[in-house]
Amino acid sequence: MTAPRLLIVGPQGSGKGTQGVRIAEAFGIPAVSTGDVFRANVKDGTELGLQVKAIIDAGDLVPDELTGAIVRDRLAQDDAAAGFLLDGYPRNLGQVADLDAFLDGRDSPLTAVIELAVPREESIQRLSRRAAEQGRADDNEEAIAKRLSIYESETAPILGVYRERGIVDAVDGVGTLDEVFERIVVALAARGITA
Ligand code: ADP
Repeated sequence: MTAPRLLIVGPQGSGKGTQGVRIAEAFGIPAVSTGDVFRANVKDGTELGLQVKAIIDAGDLVPDELTGAIVRDRLAQDDAAAGFLLDGYPRNLGQVADLDAFLDGRDSPLTAVIELAVPREESIQRLSRRAAEQGRADDNEEAIAKRLSIYESETAPILGVYRERGIVDAVDGVGTLDEVFERIVVALAARGITA
């Protein structure tokens, strides 16, 4: 059996947060979402939250060093020893290098990267629905446009790196939550990653 050290990548509105949580539950591993960590800190008014609020609301990226430190800290906790699912990190090539250095040092590289593919119109539709339902401060038109553009210029290129390593599974993200989840489970099983 291959350890589930997973990363889920997809554009805003692809449903990666929702699927990430389901996968993590199915495998009994923690879902580590940098966006969730930041939002929780903003909500609680912590020092970190105060530091990142304006950046997040504008749709910009939090500095790599800060984000990297948070992720390393989380992955070093006991419950991540058997595996983890990363959502939202790494998000650019510099963060890939940082994560590689950390995971290589522990002799525990990523074992699969799930690429959730969703057409642009579908993800924009889902985002505007989410804006109405959840009222996230960064789900306004300007911040959404910026996040999608950063996704295309900085995040999508990280898939090339992981593709070269042969660990990317592209999964069609259009369908019901159950259908998409099942596709992910099948793709992971083909790599010997089973719950
Ligand atoms: P979305 O994918 O919809 O943009 P996330 O919850 O993944 O939402 O991220 C929300 C915000 O949190 C990002 O726009 C960014 O400001 C910050 N953030 C999350 N992950 C990272 C990261 N790996 N590096 C830098 N900033 C991040």
